[in-house]
Amino acid sequence: MDLKDFELIYKENRNEIKDKQKIEKRLREIVGDNNVSTNEIDILAYTKDASLITLNWAIQGKIAGLPDFITWPETIKQICEILKFVNQEKIPVIPYGEGSGVVGGAIAIRGGIIIDMKKFNKILEINDKNLTVTAQTGINGMNLERYLNAKGYTTGHIPQSLYISSLGGWIAHRAAGQFSTKYGKIEDIILGMEVILPQGDIVDFKTTPRASTGPQLEKLFIGGEGTLGIVTKATLKIWPSPEKRKLISYAFPSIEDSFDATRQILRENIYPAVIRIYDQFETMRHFPDIDNAKDKVMVIFVCEGNTKLVDLEESITREKCENNFGVDCGVHPVEHWFETRFRVTETSAMPPYKIVFDTIEVASLWENASDIYHNVLESMKKLQGVIMITAHVSHFYPNGVGIYFSFGGVPAKEQTDLEYYQKCWDTIIKAVLDAGGSIAHHHGIGINRAHWMESELGESMNTLKDIKKLLDPNNILNPGKIYVNTWKGGEK
Ligand SMILES: Cc1cc2nc3c(=O)[nH]c(=O)nc-3n(C[C@H](O)[C@H](O)[C@H](O)COP(=O)(O)OP(=O)(O)OC[C@H]3O[C@@H](n4cnc5c(N)ncnc54)[C@H](O)[C@@H]3O)c2cc1C
Repeated sequence: MDLKDFELIYKENRNEIKDKQKIEKRLREIVGDNNVSTNEIDILAYTKDASLITLNWAIQGKIAGLPDFITWPETIKQICEILKFVNQEKIPVIPYGEGSGVVGGAIAIRGGIIIDMKKFNKILEINDKNLTVTAQTGINGMNLERYLNAKGYTTGHIPQSLYISSLGGWIAHRAAGQFSTKYGKIEDIILGMEVILPQGDIVDFKTTPRASTGPQLEKLFIGGEGTLGIVTKATLKIWPSPEKRKLISYAFPSIEDSFDATRQILRENIYPAVIRIYDQFETMRHFPDIDNAKDKVMVIFVCEGNTKLVDLEESITREKCENNFGVDCGVHPVEHWFETRFRVTETSAMPPYKIVFDTIEVASLWENASDIYHNVLESMKKLQGVIMITAHVSHFYPNGVGIYFSFGGVPAKEQTDLEYYQKCWDTIIKAVLDAGGSIAHHHGIGINRAHWMESELGESMNTLKDIKKLLDPNNILNPGKIYVNTWKGGEK
């Protein structure tokens, strides 16, 4: 099967490059022959990210986006030169980490040049006194963590996609790891960065524990999703490996009881590294053999760090759970989570059955959390074809939570799977906004959420668009994302 035999999904507003040979020649001059490809097999590998709908498409002979060139630059000078060149030629450039993003962020929907960051994979320095590590951003997450663990450290940033994502992708999507309640999200962990702006200028944001130097410009690039700059190097906080780890689990009669218990723990300024609430449906799915959890809401905790502090955290965690009708379920549910936490076959098993499946994570203040949960479940149950809608809660703050919904359904005969997928997404996001929530907790905007950005940001969306125009007047960096309603036809 040739590439031309695949049906292209995102073809509207795709830029056709007139003189491909000229562009390829210049790219080869900049990065060298070994670091450019136009081979069909390479192009095919970069037509998707990890959005689950792209798996359905893959088995139907469809591709999401079609880049023209794949490049693997090795130096910042090469990236700067590519950017300067494409600004003259007005060709899109898409930064690419490991393609584990789940909102279409790395898909080349306008064609153009993929800048794969994989050759930016060096760990440059560990500083024990400052407790920092500096690395290039193409580094694979697990390679970074494995190296740190061997030296007695951790970043504490352990996303489920640790093995399949990069430091640059984490920064671009404002990622959150499984241990984030203690160690923070990526924006809490990053202390300094090097960024190449869309027109090829390099900006170095100094590494500092904090500074009072005007607005925090660097924050623009944490969550920039490859639209405002390419992050090439970053300095992160690290921690000594924990001395002690305590595994705790409790089952609660209702989601509200579990919210009360966990809220009261955080309110004491106690931060277990991991807290995960599973609603009744997910408890049934993940812990069917735990008798105390039948028809209940399971919550697992991992407390880790200094022994004396862990002992104190454990006793306060247990006290709050028991005060809120929690029943102790022992260590087994947490051990089970440790064994299965990187396993994702459940989701990738759906497409052969023609089931459209996906996950949507959102953020909520405590006062809205219960309403958001029920509103989403009720709205989705009314939608034709929905066969499952469940949730877990895996990121906690003294002020609120990140809620993670999973849904699956079968499109009606007259509907394409993309139309059905969009309907499910829109139903969930609307239910979240109606109940006072925020549309994304840690997967980002990409294509899937772009048309909700105005509802989320209001007037400040215009400021964001102005910043994009200022930094990227030719709109070459990852066009068609965040600022543009690609699902509804893109800009005219
Ligand atoms: C099974 C699974 C589990 C997941 N679990 C989690 C989780 O626990 N927590 C979480 O937060 N996310 C999770 N994700 C989502 C995904 O792993 C994250 O969004 C991750 O941060 C993407 O990293 P990546 O390197 O794969 O980026 P890519 O998918 O390659 O790119 C994502 C975006 O970042 C941009 N980008 C990439 N590198 C750079 C760079 N150097 N400079 C500027 N922009 C860049 C791209 O243009 C794109 O817009 C999961 C995904 C899967 C498939």
